[in-house]
Amino acid sequence: MTGGLDQLYGDLIVDHAERRVGAGLLEDPDVRSHQVNPTCGDEIWLDLAVDPERPDAVHIAWEGHGCLISQGSASMLAELLDGAPRAELPARIAAVREMLHSRGTIAGDEDVLGDAVALAGVSRYVARVKCAMLAWVALEDAVARLP
Ligand code: ZN
Repeated sequence: MTGGLDQLYGDLIVDHAERRVGAGLLEDPDVRSHQVNPTCGDEIWLDLAVDPERPDAVHIAWEGHGCLISQGSASMLAELLDGAPRAELPARIAAVREMLHSRGTIAGDEDVLGDAVALAGVSRYVARVKCAMLAWVALEDAVARLP
């Protein structure tokens, strides 16, 4: 593996792609979003369920297959946002999109993005931005359809 690929994937992305935090779909989600990235072959299902005891918070679960970046990104999303207040989700999604579309000029704020700051390096590889965004697009779609 070359230095360039090390930079592209990063230890945190590899770690998350192996740990798959939040993987395993829910039995009865309120919303399920299915997203595909045909250019790479990545596929993600993302479930949202409102917590009955905390109606302002959402439980997030996902399943999928594809490249390390797409799977690692989904794990980062779940670790950061499972149980988060619904009202916070649009701003987190916007922050990831801004970073990933910045072509390496925006490093990202760890307080807002958690381990997903490790995706900043991906923004220099335009062909891989969709891999990193896939789970976040699924979350955005699911939030928009949440009752
Ligand atoms: Zn991919």
